[in-house]
Amino acid sequence: MKIGVLASQGAFREHIEKLRQLGVEAMPVRMPEELKGLDGLIIPGGESTSIGRLMRDYKLTQAIRNMVKKGMPVFGTCAGMILLARESTDASFESLGLMDITVRRNAFGRQRESFETELNVPVLGKKPFPGVFIRAPLIEQVDGNVEVLARLADGTIVAAREDKMLALAFHPELTDDLRFHQYFLRLLSEKE
Ligand code: GLN
Repeated sequence: MKIGVLASQGAFREHIEKLRQLGVEAMPVRMPEELKGLDGLIIPGGESTSIGRLMRDYKLTQAIRNMVKKGMPVFGTCAGMILLARESTDASFESLGLMDITVRRNAFGRQRESFETELNVPVLGKKPFPGVFIRAPLIEQVDGNVEVLARLADGTIVAAREDKMLALAFHPELTDDLRFHQYFLRLLSEKE
């Protein structure tokens, strides 16, 4: 099994590290050729505007879209989630537009720019997941086949799944908890 981590910009090293801890072959992806033969792709956090522009300039946007439409699983965290979303309230770049979610960038304002909170995530079991939020987006709306995986105490949606696409508003790669990466690996082996 080989997983690529989009390495245009942002927190890609930490994702690679987590995958390697789980015994999975993981490699950075900067060029469309590097997508060949991948079993899955992670789009990390960072600055969605920069990642989106670099993806376009390096001709990755359409290449990734095509592969995900053919069934390649994809996992976006924070900026990566914004890039997966069908709609984003203030995006000045072309997103992948693959997941039926509407997101709002920098949704928590200055007061709560970065925070940590324990999240209840039923698909991961009883133990709460440490949610690390950094200038995080939120999911305003989910449509179609999207399943909500986690909410903040006030009901705000912060994690969702649609078929083999997974989107989180927070950063699991900055914690010691491997359960979301394991969950993504399980999606890879699920039957169509
Ligand atoms: N605020 C960033 C954006 O809008 C996302 C932050 C992150 O990925 N930690 O792209």
